[in-house]
Amino acid sequence: MRLVSVVLALSALFLESAPAGLTPEHEAHAVELREHALGSERAYAFLESLTVEVGPRLAGSPGDARAVAWAEKKLTSLGFDKVWREPVAVRGWERGPAQLRVLSPYPQALHITALGGSVATPVEGIRGVVTIFPDLKALEAASPSQVKDRIVFINARMAATRDGRGYGVVVRGRTHGAAVAGKLGARAVLIRSVGTGTARLPHTGVMQYRKGIPRIPAAALSIPDANQLEAMLRRGDVEVHLGLQSRDLGEATSYNVIGEFRGSTRPEELVLLGAHLDSWDEGTGALDDGFGLAVVAEAARLVGAFRSRPSRTVRVVFYANEENGGKGAKAYVNAHRDEFARHVVAAESDAGGGRIWRVDTRFSKRGADAGDVLSRLLGALGIERGTNQATGGPDISILRQYGVPLVTLAQDATTYFDHHHTADDTLDKVDRAALRQNVAAYVVYVWVLANWEGDLRPVP
Ligand SMILES: [Zn+2]
Repeated sequence: MRLVSVVLALSALFLESAPAGLTPEHEAHAVELREHALGSERAYAFLESLTVEVGPRLAGSPGDARAVAWAEKKLTSLGFDKVWREPVAVRGWERGPAQLRVLSPYPQALHITALGGSVATPVEGIRGVVTIFPDLKALEAASPSQVKDRIVFINARMAATRDGRGYGVVVRGRTHGAAVAGKLGARAVLIRSVGTGTARLPHTGVMQYRKGIPRIPAAALSIPDANQLEAMLRRGDVEVHLGLQSRDLGEATSYNVIGEFRGSTRPEELVLLGAHLDSWDEGTGALDDGFGLAVVAEAARLVGAFRSRPSRTVRVVFYANEENGGKGAKAYVNAHRDEFARHVVAAESDAGGGRIWRVDTRFSKRGADAGDVLSRLLGALGIERGTNQATGGPDISILRQYGVPLVTLAQDATTYFDHHHTADDTLDKVDRAALRQNVAAYVVYVWVLANWEGDLRPVP
């Protein structure tokens, strides 16, 4: 056994000039940076500044323009070597008042909010009898005679889980409910909020129309209000009145804001960290995705401010328009396609404010060693090794098709969807210890992969 390792070590010495992996010094630095991150409140200060000084920032809105200016100033003040913005064409949309009244048989108001991108109702509103469906699939199977001139109510329940998979199961009803119901002749669509928790606050989120299908108004009921409507419908027909006054603002320009710390020996190679700058309009975007911005900015800053620079460049991308269009991710691809061979790895923080509990990678077979070192260093933060099938988040998953290796630092999402996309996404929901733990994990990710000797490609 021992002889075999000596032979292997000797052959490695002769075959390669730089040793593969991470040097013991770099590994010690990773531990030092990780421990330093656990004691720092700077990410919280960043997040407080964003939520107080900018607040809501839906792409294409005045708040979004303020967020872009704030981000450039903030990254510059944090000492990034280079900070710049890149234009992203978006479509602006503005929420207006939203009312839903039960007219009969039990007159009362229910709490709703418009889905992002919904058209308004006529000023006098819409009256209609409600037809309930347990989920989008049931609606898709309905006949026009069941739906025509009705107000459709999709009552799909979301389960709370640590990995957040319940969201993907029901979110199609929010995205496509209006198109499916509109095709069948419905007057409007209501959905049970895609969320968990019991607050009487509806969860907004993006919806899409389809070409050639009538555009009908779409709104979400809070979860207690969805229960209330469901209970009424168990007793018989329910007639409601819906009024929405949202507004399309047309074409607008937003920006991806990018900051870099330049690498010492291989500055043309990049380690990317992403999060999104925009937020929904009713909360202050503390969890979605101010938390992610604070994590990636502070992790990069800690590495950039360390006594020695990593070999590779550390690039932070604050993506525009994740919530209502996803145009920031596409604009980044169009502007940086030529650099993707030099994007060594990418990770994204956009899953709320929970602690990180698992690390997934998407590395080549040879890169598995990097996954071993990462998970060894992350183990001290309570993070377990996951799969080699990381998919990234909404903004970086697109990089996979260009062969960019990915890392996902999966956060505990058990309670994330209690506040997600509601007016309650505010700073008081942030757990400072979880924020520090996230920064510590991202610091390890950045440091290890910005100094790693060896290839993580081709990705599986
Ligand atoms: Zn988000």
